[in-house]
Amino acid sequence: MPQGMAQPQTGVGRLRAADEPSPVEVVAGDRQGPVLFLCDHASNLIPRSLDNLGLPADALNKHVAWDIGAADVARNLAAEFNAPLVLSGYSRLVIDCNRTLTDPTSIPLASDDLEIPGNISLSGVEATQRTEEFFQPYHTAIADLLAEMGTGDARPAVISVHSFTPSFGGFQRPWEVGVLWNRDERLSAPFMAALARDGDLTVGDNEPYSAKENFGYSVDVHAQDRGLPHMLVEIRQDLIGTPQGALQWAQRVGVAIKEALEAAGCL
Ligand SMILES: [Zn+2]
Repeated sequence: MPQGMAQPQTGVGRLRAADEPSPVEVVAGDRQGPVLFLCDHASNLIPRSLDNLGLPADALNKHVAWDIGAADVARNLAAEFNAPLVLSGYSRLVIDCNRTLTDPTSIPLASDDLEIPGNISLSGVEATQRTEEFFQPYHTAIADLLAEMGTGDARPAVISVHSFTPSFGGFQRPWEVGVLWNRDERLSAPFMAALARDGDLTVGDNEPYSAKENFGYSVDVHAQDRGLPHMLVEIRQDLIGTPQGALQWAQRVGVAIKEALEAAGCL
């Protein structure tokens, strides 16, 4: 469709044209089920109007733009548990759905030493547009789902799925899976115990990042503040960069998630 031919429609703003994907994807699942999955960094898409944020196209295939493999793992988990899943539709470089809006990395000026030209000198109006068009629809979808699902004491659980780079700052990260948790151990403790029984895994306990300060945004606001059992699961991206890898790791992690949901009284 030529530029300018797009018809106005609900949810389309100045930055996203009518023929571009939605800022949020909700995968249907059992609304009475035990768990909701989130994928904050599911996509590396940049709306055309932002012209790749001034970056070369190959930069957008890297971790700075998204969590490689995380969406595939999350989709497999959602299918396995017949659970709803909410995925962000655009790159964290447009606006990071897992940061508070006041965080300096919400609309990052740089990421892993890569300067983001399209984010330099952004006006307040431009930042607000990104919030309204890409951040809010994602979080509204999560809040709406939880309003529908929240009927029990310990349910639904909220599990956020991410991926991390194999090395950072010259350090080879030894973990295949990391579990981020703060005050609520209802899921994280039995999840780590189940993974320990798996055998060969090196599991990061609040590694490669710690949630002891905060999870970022999504889990804090939607799960921790509501008192819902929650954890953030990180999987090393070289393991899940192919559809087969994502399926295998979803199955492996899924066994431990099932045990954790049972232990937390969600199942
Ligand atoms: Zn992430």
